[in-house]
Amino acid sequence: MPDINKIREDFPILKRKVNGYPLIYLDNAATSQTPKQVIDTIVGYYSNYNANIHRGVHTLSQEATEKYEEARIKIQKHFNATKPYEIIFTSGTTHGINLVATGFSDFLKEGDEIIVSALEHHSNIVPWQMLCERTGAVLKVIPMNEDGELIMSEYDKILSPNTKLVFCNHISNALGTINPVQEIIDKAHQFGAAVLIDGAQAAPHLKIDVQALDVDFYVASAHKMCGPTGVGMLYGKEEWLKKLPPYQGGGEMIAEVTFEKTTYADLPHKFEAGTPNICGGIAFGAAIDYLNSIDLDEIKAYEDELLAYATEKLSSILGLKIYGTSENKTSVISFNIEGIHPYDIGSIVDKLGIAVRTGHHCAQPIMDYYKIPGTVRASFAFYNTKEEIDNFVEAVNRAQLMLS
Ligand code: PMP
Repeated sequence: MPDINKIREDFPILKRKVNGYPLIYLDNAATSQTPKQVIDTIVGYYSNYNANIHRGVHTLSQEATEKYEEARIKIQKHFNATKPYEIIFTSGTTHGINLVATGFSDFLKEGDEIIVSALEHHSNIVPWQMLCERTGAVLKVIPMNEDGELIMSEYDKILSPNTKLVFCNHISNALGTINPVQEIIDKAHQFGAAVLIDGAQAAPHLKIDVQALDVDFYVASAHKMCGPTGVGMLYGKEEWLKKLPPYQGGGEMIAEVTFEKTTYADLPHKFEAGTPNICGGIAFGAAIDYLNSIDLDEIKAYEDELLAYATEKLSSILGLKIYGTSENKTSVISFNIEGIHPYDIGSIVDKLGIAVRTGHHCAQPIMDYYKIPGTVRASFAFYNTKEEIDNFVEAVNRAQLMLS
Protein backbone atom coordinates (compact mmCIF):
# COMPACT_ATOMS: atom_id res chain seq x y z
CA MET A 1 0.00 0.00 0.00
CA PRO A 2 1.65 3.27 -1.09
CA ASP A 3 2.08 6.11 1.43
CA ILE A 4 -0.46 8.53 -0.05
CA ASN A 5 0.41 11.50 2.16
CA LYS A 6 4.04 11.22 1.08
CA ILE A 7 3.01 10.86 -2.56
CA ARG A 8 0.79 13.95 -2.33
CA GLU A 9 3.84 15.97 -1.27
CA ASP A 10 5.23 15.35 -4.77
CA PHE A 11 2.34 17.25 -6.40
CA PRO A 12 2.60 21.02 -5.77
CA ILE A 13 -0.81 21.70 -7.34
CA LEU A 14 -2.57 19.62 -4.67
CA LYS A 15 -1.73 22.36 -2.17
CA ARG A 16 -3.69 25.06 -3.97
CA LYS A 17 -7.14 26.32 -3.14
CA VAL A 18 -9.99 26.76 -5.59
CA ASN A 19 -12.78 29.14 -4.65
CA GLY A 20 -11.43 29.18 -1.11
CA TYR A 21 -11.50 25.37 -0.71
CA PRO A 22 -8.61 22.90 -0.94
CA LEU A 23 -8.49 21.55 -4.50
CA ILE A 24 -9.99 18.07 -4.92
CA TYR A 25 -8.91 16.94 -8.35
CA LEU A 26 -11.17 14.22 -9.76
CA ASP A 27 -10.62 14.85 -13.48
CA ASN A 28 -7.67 12.52 -13.92
CA ALA A 29 -9.09 10.79 -16.99
CA ALA A 30 -8.87 14.15 -18.79
CA THR A 31 -5.32 14.83 -17.64
CA SER A 32 -3.25 13.79 -14.64
CA GLN A 33 -1.36 16.14 -12.35
CA THR A 34 2.40 16.55 -12.54
CA PRO A 35 4.85 15.56 -9.80
CA LYS A 36 7.79 17.82 -8.96
CA GLN A 37 10.21 15.19 -10.32
CA VAL A 38 8.72 15.82 -13.79
CA ILE A 39 8.47 19.60 -13.28
CA ASP A 40 12.16 19.63 -12.22
CA THR A 41 13.09 17.71 -15.38
CA ILE A 42 11.34 20.36 -17.51
CA VAL A 43 13.05 23.22 -15.63
CA GLY A 44 16.37 21.33 -15.83
CA TYR A 45 16.09 20.95 -19.59
CA TYR A 46 15.43 24.64 -20.26
CA SER A 47 17.97 25.75 -17.63
CA ASN A 48 20.85 23.52 -18.69
CA TYR A 49 20.77 21.82 -22.07
CA ASN A 50 18.04 23.24 -24.31
CA ALA A 51 19.20 22.48 -27.85
CA ASN A 52 18.01 20.87 -31.06
CA ILE A 53 18.74 17.17 -31.30
CA HIS A 54 20.26 14.60 -33.66
CA ARG A 55 22.23 16.99 -35.86
CA GLY A 56 24.36 19.17 -33.63
CA VAL A 57 28.03 18.52 -32.92
CA HIS A 58 28.06 20.83 -29.91
CA THR A 59 27.83 19.63 -26.30
CA LEU A 60 24.32 20.87 -25.56
CA SER A 61 22.90 19.19 -28.64
CA GLN A 62 24.62 15.95 -27.78
CA GLU A 63 23.36 16.06 -24.19
CA ALA A 64 19.79 16.75 -25.33
CA THR A 65 19.98 13.96 -27.93
CA GLU A 66 21.27 11.50 -25.36
CA LYS A 67 18.50 12.30 -22.87
CA TYR A 68 15.80 12.19 -25.57
CA GLU A 69 16.95 8.78 -26.79
CA GLU A 70 17.29 7.58 -23.18
CA ALA A 71 13.62 8.52 -22.71
CA ARG A 72 12.71 6.43 -25.75
CA ILE A 73 14.45 3.45 -24.14
CA LYS A 74 12.60 4.05 -20.85
CA ILE A 75 9.31 3.97 -22.77
CA GLN A 76 10.40 0.86 -24.69
CA LYS A 77 11.23 -0.98 -21.47
CA HIS A 78 8.10 0.22 -19.69
CA PHE A 79 5.82 -1.13 -22.44
CA ASN A 80 8.16 -4.09 -23.05
CA ALA A 81 8.70 -3.43 -26.76
CA THR A 82 11.53 -5.48 -28.24
CA LYS A 83 13.40 -2.53 -29.79
CA PRO A 84 13.70 1.19 -29.03
CA TYR A 85 12.89 2.08 -32.65
CA GLU A 86 9.48 0.44 -32.31
CA ILE A 87 8.60 3.46 -30.12
CA ILE A 88 7.65 6.55 -32.13
CA PHE A 89 7.34 9.85 -30.27
CA THR A 90 4.04 11.53 -31.12
CA SER A 91 2.15 14.55 -29.81
CA GLY A 92 -0.30 12.16 -28.09
CA THR A 93 -2.78 9.35 -28.61
CA THR A 94 -4.71 11.23 -31.30
CA HIS A 95 -1.54 11.78 -33.35
CA GLY A 96 -0.55 8.10 -33.06
CA ILE A 97 -3.96 6.93 -34.28
CA ASN A 98 -3.95 9.37 -37.21
CA LEU A 99 -0.44 8.27 -38.19
CA VAL A 100 -1.59 4.66 -38.50
CA ALA A 101 -4.96 5.50 -40.08
CA THR A 102 -3.35 7.67 -42.75
CA GLY A 103 -0.70 5.03 -43.48
CA PHE A 104 -3.30 2.34 -44.00
CA SER A 105 -4.83 4.29 -46.93
CA ASP A 106 -2.22 2.53 -49.07
CA PHE A 107 -3.25 -0.95 -47.93
CA LEU A 108 -7.06 -0.94 -48.06
CA LYS A 109 -9.46 -1.34 -50.94
CA GLU A 110 -13.20 -1.14 -51.45
CA GLY A 111 -15.03 -3.86 -49.53
CA ASP A 112 -12.35 -4.31 -46.88
CA GLU A 113 -13.67 -4.02 -43.35
CA ILE A 114 -12.54 -2.17 -40.25
CA ILE A 115 -13.92 -2.93 -36.79
CA VAL A 116 -14.15 -0.43 -33.93
CA SER A 117 -15.91 -0.78 -30.59
CA ALA A 118 -19.00 1.05 -29.37
CA LEU A 119 -16.96 2.34 -26.42
CA GLU A 120 -14.50 4.47 -28.36
CA HIS A 121 -13.33 8.02 -27.80
CA HIS A 122 -13.96 10.19 -30.88
CA SER A 123 -10.23 10.08 -31.63
CA ASN A 124 -10.57 6.33 -32.20
CA ILE A 125 -13.63 6.73 -34.44
CA VAL A 126 -13.18 9.76 -36.69
CA PRO A 127 -9.75 8.87 -38.20
CA TRP A 128 -11.11 5.44 -39.20
CA GLN A 129 -14.23 6.99 -40.74
CA MET A 130 -11.94 9.27 -42.74
CA LEU A 131 -9.89 6.23 -43.77
CA CYS A 132 -13.09 4.49 -44.94
CA GLU A 133 -14.04 7.56 -46.98
CA ARG A 134 -10.63 7.55 -48.67
CA THR A 135 -10.54 3.84 -49.43
CA GLY A 136 -14.13 2.57 -49.70
CA ALA A 137 -13.57 0.27 -46.69
CA VAL A 138 -16.57 -0.37 -44.43
CA LEU A 139 -16.69 0.44 -40.69
CA LYS A 140 -18.31 -2.15 -38.41
CA VAL A 141 -18.98 -1.75 -34.69
CA ILE A 142 -18.78 -4.19 -31.75
CA PRO A 143 -21.93 -3.21 -29.81
CA MET A 144 -22.14 -2.65 -26.04
CA ASN A 145 -24.59 -3.76 -23.37
CA GLU A 146 -26.34 -1.86 -20.56
CA ASP A 147 -23.40 -2.47 -18.17
CA GLY A 148 -21.07 -0.72 -20.61
CA GLU A 149 -19.34 -3.92 -21.75
CA LEU A 150 -18.61 -5.03 -25.29
CA ILE A 151 -20.81 -7.87 -26.54
CA MET A 152 -18.10 -10.27 -27.60
CA SER A 153 -20.45 -12.76 -29.27
CA GLU A 154 -21.29 -9.94 -31.73
CA TYR A 155 -17.57 -9.41 -32.36
CA ASP A 156 -17.36 -13.07 -33.43
CA LYS A 157 -20.19 -12.44 -35.91
CA ILE A 158 -18.66 -9.38 -37.60
CA LEU A 159 -15.08 -10.70 -37.82
CA SER A 160 -14.41 -12.19 -41.26
CA PRO A 161 -11.66 -12.69 -43.84
CA ASN A 162 -12.59 -9.16 -45.06
CA THR A 163 -11.54 -7.67 -41.69
CA LYS A 164 -8.24 -5.84 -42.14
CA LEU A 165 -8.04 -3.75 -38.98
CA VAL A 166 -9.54 -3.75 -35.48
CA PHE A 167 -9.45 -0.80 -33.06
CA CYS A 168 -10.44 -0.73 -29.47
CA ASN A 169 -9.56 1.20 -26.35
CA HIS A 170 -8.04 -0.72 -23.47
CA ILE A 171 -10.11 1.22 -20.91
CA SER A 172 -13.12 3.38 -21.76
CA ASN A 173 -12.60 7.02 -20.74
CA ALA A 174 -16.35 7.60 -20.38
CA LEU A 175 -17.25 4.53 -18.27
CA GLY A 176 -13.99 3.01 -17.00
CA THR A 177 -14.71 -0.45 -18.49
CA ILE A 178 -11.58 -2.54 -18.98
CA ASN A 179 -12.07 -4.19 -22.37
CA PRO A 180 -11.05 -7.80 -23.13
CA VAL A 181 -8.23 -6.66 -25.40
CA GLN A 182 -6.34 -9.97 -25.36
CA GLU A 183 -9.38 -11.77 -26.77
CA ILE A 184 -9.92 -8.97 -29.29
CA ILE A 185 -6.32 -9.21 -30.50
CA ASP A 186 -6.17 -13.03 -30.63
CA LYS A 187 -9.41 -13.34 -32.57
CA ALA A 188 -8.46 -10.58 -35.05
CA HIS A 189 -5.15 -12.30 -35.70
CA GLN A 190 -6.95 -15.54 -36.57
CA PHE A 191 -8.33 -13.61 -39.56
CA GLY A 192 -5.01 -11.91 -40.36
CA ALA A 193 -6.28 -8.46 -39.24
CA ALA A 194 -4.00 -5.93 -37.54
CA VAL A 195 -5.02 -4.46 -34.17
CA LEU A 196 -4.49 -1.02 -32.68
CA ILE A 197 -5.20 -0.61 -28.97
CA ASP A 198 -5.83 2.89 -27.62
CA GLY A 199 -4.12 2.83 -24.24
CA ALA A 200 -4.74 6.48 -23.30
CA GLN A 201 -6.68 5.45 -20.19
CA ALA A 202 -4.95 2.14 -19.48
CA ALA A 203 -1.32 3.28 -19.42
CA PRO A 204 -1.78 5.32 -16.19
CA HIS A 205 -3.38 2.38 -14.37
CA LEU A 206 -2.09 -0.96 -15.71
CA LYS A 207 1.22 -2.59 -16.57
CA ILE A 208 1.23 -2.93 -20.33
CA ASP A 209 3.28 -5.61 -22.08
CA VAL A 210 2.97 -5.18 -25.84
CA GLN A 211 4.84 -8.42 -26.53
CA ALA A 212 2.59 -10.49 -24.28
CA LEU A 213 -0.47 -8.86 -25.85
CA ASP A 214 1.02 -9.50 -29.30
CA VAL A 215 -0.63 -6.23 -30.34
CA ASP A 216 0.34 -4.58 -33.64
CA PHE A 217 -0.01 -0.96 -32.49
CA TYR A 218 -0.44 0.57 -29.02
CA VAL A 219 -0.87 4.31 -28.37
CA ALA A 220 -0.77 6.47 -25.22
CA SER A 221 -0.43 10.10 -24.06
CA ALA A 222 2.15 11.31 -21.51
CA HIS A 223 -0.23 13.85 -19.99
CA LYS A 224 -2.44 11.11 -18.56
CA MET A 225 0.63 9.41 -17.04
CA CYS A 226 1.92 12.30 -14.88
CA GLY A 227 3.87 13.69 -17.85
CA PRO A 228 3.42 16.90 -19.85
CA THR A 229 0.89 17.62 -22.60
CA GLY A 230 1.87 17.54 -26.27
CA VAL A 231 3.80 14.28 -26.20
CA GLY A 232 2.89 10.62 -26.44
CA MET A 233 3.96 7.37 -27.94
CA LEU A 234 3.05 4.98 -30.71
CA TYR A 235 4.32 1.43 -30.39
CA GLY A 236 4.30 -0.50 -33.65
CA LYS A 237 5.68 -3.93 -34.46
CA GLU A 238 8.81 -3.45 -36.54
CA GLU A 239 7.31 -5.26 -39.56
CA TRP A 240 4.32 -2.89 -39.59
CA LEU A 241 6.35 0.28 -39.08
CA LYS A 242 8.61 -0.73 -41.95
CA LYS A 243 5.60 -1.26 -44.22
CA LEU A 244 3.70 1.93 -43.29
CA PRO A 245 4.55 5.04 -45.33
CA PRO A 246 5.80 8.19 -43.53
CA TYR A 247 3.04 10.35 -42.05
CA GLN A 248 4.60 13.77 -42.61
CA GLY A 249 7.50 14.94 -44.75
CA GLY A 250 10.22 17.29 -43.55
CA GLY A 251 13.57 17.44 -41.81
CA GLU A 252 14.76 14.58 -39.57
CA MET A 253 12.76 11.92 -41.47
CA ILE A 254 14.95 11.71 -44.57
CA ALA A 255 18.05 9.76 -45.60
CA GLU A 256 18.77 11.82 -48.72
CA VAL A 257 16.91 14.57 -50.58
CA THR A 258 17.31 15.59 -54.22
CA PHE A 259 14.71 17.17 -56.48
CA GLU A 260 14.51 13.90 -58.37
CA LYS A 261 14.01 11.54 -55.43
CA THR A 262 14.02 11.49 -51.64
CA THR A 263 14.82 8.46 -49.53
CA TYR A 264 13.54 8.10 -45.99
CA ALA A 265 15.41 7.64 -42.74
CA ASP A 266 15.29 4.37 -40.86
CA LEU A 267 12.95 3.78 -37.91
CA PRO A 268 12.02 5.59 -35.75
CA HIS A 269 13.01 8.83 -37.54
CA LYS A 270 10.94 8.02 -40.64
CA PHE A 271 7.86 8.97 -38.55
CA GLU A 272 9.36 11.91 -36.67
CA ALA A 273 9.46 14.80 -39.14
CA GLY A 274 10.58 18.21 -37.88
CA THR A 275 11.90 19.28 -34.50
CA PRO A 276 10.10 17.13 -31.95
CA ASN A 277 8.86 18.05 -28.48
CA ILE A 278 12.33 17.42 -27.04
CA CYS A 279 11.67 18.61 -23.52
CA GLY A 280 8.31 16.79 -23.52
CA GLY A 281 9.90 13.51 -24.58
CA ILE A 282 12.53 13.74 -21.84
CA ALA A 283 9.86 14.65 -19.27
CA PHE A 284 7.75 11.68 -20.47
CA GLY A 285 10.73 9.50 -19.52
CA ALA A 286 10.83 11.16 -16.08
CA ALA A 287 7.08 10.50 -15.64
CA ILE A 288 7.62 6.82 -16.38
CA ASP A 289 10.42 6.71 -13.81
CA TYR A 290 8.05 8.32 -11.33
CA LEU A 291 5.20 5.83 -11.94
CA ASN A 292 7.63 2.94 -11.62
CA SER A 293 8.98 4.35 -8.37
CA ILE A 294 5.49 3.78 -6.92
CA ASP A 295 4.72 0.52 -8.74
CA LEU A 296 1.76 0.24 -11.08
CA ASP A 297 0.40 -2.91 -9.40
CA GLU A 298 0.13 -1.05 -6.08
CA ILE A 299 -1.40 1.94 -7.86
CA LYS A 300 -4.06 -0.30 -9.45
CA ALA A 301 -4.94 -1.99 -6.14
CA TYR A 302 -5.29 1.36 -4.33
CA GLU A 303 -7.33 2.91 -7.14
CA ASP A 304 -9.67 -0.11 -7.14
CA GLU A 305 -10.21 0.52 -3.44
CA LEU A 306 -11.05 4.19 -4.13
CA LEU A 307 -13.44 3.18 -6.91
CA ALA A 308 -15.29 0.67 -4.70
CA TYR A 309 -15.51 3.23 -1.88
CA ALA A 310 -16.83 6.01 -4.13
CA THR A 311 -19.30 3.66 -5.85
CA GLU A 312 -20.78 2.60 -2.54
CA LYS A 313 -21.02 6.17 -1.19
CA LEU A 314 -22.52 7.67 -4.36
CA SER A 315 -25.01 4.80 -4.70
CA SER A 316 -26.64 5.91 -1.45
CA ILE A 317 -27.82 9.16 -3.09
CA LEU A 318 -31.46 8.92 -4.09
CA GLY A 319 -32.05 9.18 -7.85
CA LEU A 320 -28.37 8.77 -8.71
CA LYS A 321 -27.64 6.36 -11.56
CA ILE A 322 -24.16 5.12 -12.39
CA TYR A 323 -23.39 4.37 -16.05
CA GLY A 324 -20.84 1.61 -16.58
CA THR A 325 -21.45 -1.12 -14.05
CA SER A 326 -19.09 -3.79 -15.32
CA GLU A 327 -17.23 -5.84 -12.70
CA ASN A 328 -14.20 -5.19 -14.82
CA LYS A 329 -13.63 -1.45 -14.53
CA THR A 330 -11.25 1.04 -13.01
CA SER A 331 -10.89 4.60 -11.77
CA VAL A 332 -13.95 6.20 -13.41
CA ILE A 333 -17.49 6.81 -12.16
CA SER A 334 -19.93 8.33 -14.63
CA PHE A 335 -23.33 9.24 -13.23
CA ASN A 336 -26.43 11.41 -13.42
CA ILE A 337 -29.04 12.44 -10.86
CA GLU A 338 -32.64 12.27 -11.95
CA GLY A 339 -33.99 15.62 -13.08
CA ILE A 340 -30.65 17.47 -12.85
CA HIS A 341 -28.36 18.41 -15.72
CA PRO A 342 -24.77 17.12 -15.27
CA TYR A 343 -23.38 20.58 -16.04
CA ASP A 344 -25.20 22.06 -13.04
CA ILE A 345 -23.70 19.47 -10.69
CA GLY A 346 -20.22 20.11 -12.13
CA SER A 347 -20.61 23.88 -11.65
CA ILE A 348 -21.76 23.59 -8.04
CA VAL A 349 -19.04 21.18 -6.95
CA ASP A 350 -16.47 23.46 -8.64
CA LYS A 351 -17.61 26.24 -6.33
CA LEU A 352 -16.53 23.90 -3.52
CA GLY A 353 -13.08 23.34 -5.05
CA ILE A 354 -13.86 19.99 -6.70
CA ALA A 355 -12.86 19.34 -10.31
CA VAL A 356 -14.95 16.79 -12.24
CA ARG A 357 -15.77 16.52 -15.92
CA THR A 358 -19.29 16.93 -17.30
CA GLY A 359 -20.55 16.29 -20.82
CA HIS A 360 -20.21 13.52 -23.41
CA HIS A 361 -16.48 12.93 -22.73
CA CYS A 362 -15.73 12.76 -26.49
CA ALA A 363 -17.75 9.56 -26.62
CA GLN A 364 -21.12 10.61 -28.07
CA PRO A 365 -22.09 7.11 -29.28
CA ILE A 366 -22.01 5.90 -25.64
CA MET A 367 -24.27 8.77 -24.57
CA ASP A 368 -26.60 8.01 -27.50
CA TYR A 369 -26.79 4.38 -26.35
CA TYR A 370 -27.99 5.49 -22.90
CA LYS A 371 -30.13 8.27 -24.46
CA ILE A 372 -28.54 10.96 -22.29
CA PRO A 373 -26.77 14.21 -23.21
CA GLY A 374 -23.85 13.48 -20.91
CA THR A 375 -22.78 12.51 -17.42
CA VAL A 376 -20.84 13.80 -14.45
CA ARG A 377 -17.53 11.93 -14.46
CA ALA A 378 -15.30 11.59 -11.42
CA SER A 379 -12.00 9.91 -12.26
CA PHE A 380 -9.39 8.91 -9.71
CA ALA A 381 -5.62 8.75 -9.47
CA PHE A 382 -3.34 7.26 -6.85
CA TYR A 383 -2.94 10.65 -5.12
CA ASN A 384 -6.66 10.86 -4.33
CA THR A 385 -7.94 9.89 -0.88
CA LYS A 386 -11.09 8.51 0.71
CA GLU A 387 -11.48 11.83 2.55
CA GLU A 388 -11.64 13.62 -0.79
CA ILE A 389 -14.32 11.19 -1.90
CA ASP A 390 -16.31 11.89 1.29
CA ASN A 391 -16.11 15.62 0.52
CA PHE A 392 -17.14 15.01 -3.06
CA VAL A 393 -20.17 12.91 -2.08
CA GLU A 394 -21.16 15.61 0.43
CA ALA A 395 -20.86 18.24 -2.33
CA VAL A 396 -23.04 16.17 -4.69
CA ASN A 397 -25.61 15.89 -1.91
CA ARG A 398 -25.57 19.67 -1.50
CA ALA A 399 -25.91 20.17 -5.26
CA GLN A 400 -28.92 17.86 -5.31
CA LEU A 401 -30.58 19.79 -2.48
CA MET A 402 -29.98 23.10 -4.22
CA LEU A 403 -31.14 21.96 -7.66
CA SER A 404 -34.18 19.82 -6.97
N1 PMP B 1 -8.55 7.84 -26.31
C1 PMP B 1 -9.00 7.84 -25.05
C2 PMP B 1 -9.61 6.59 -24.49
C3 PMP B 1 -8.89 9.01 -24.28
O1 PMP B 1 -9.35 9.02 -23.04
C4 PMP B 1 -8.30 10.16 -24.85
C5 PMP B 1 -8.18 11.45 -24.05
N2 PMP B 1 -9.34 11.82 -23.38
C6 PMP B 1 -7.83 10.09 -26.17
C7 PMP B 1 -7.97 8.92 -26.85
C8 PMP B 1 -7.17 11.26 -26.82
O2 PMP B 1 -5.96 11.55 -26.19
P1 PMP B 1 -5.15 12.89 -26.54
O3 PMP B 1 -6.15 14.00 -26.47
O4 PMP B 1 -4.10 12.97 -25.48
O5 PMP B 1 -4.60 12.71 -27.90
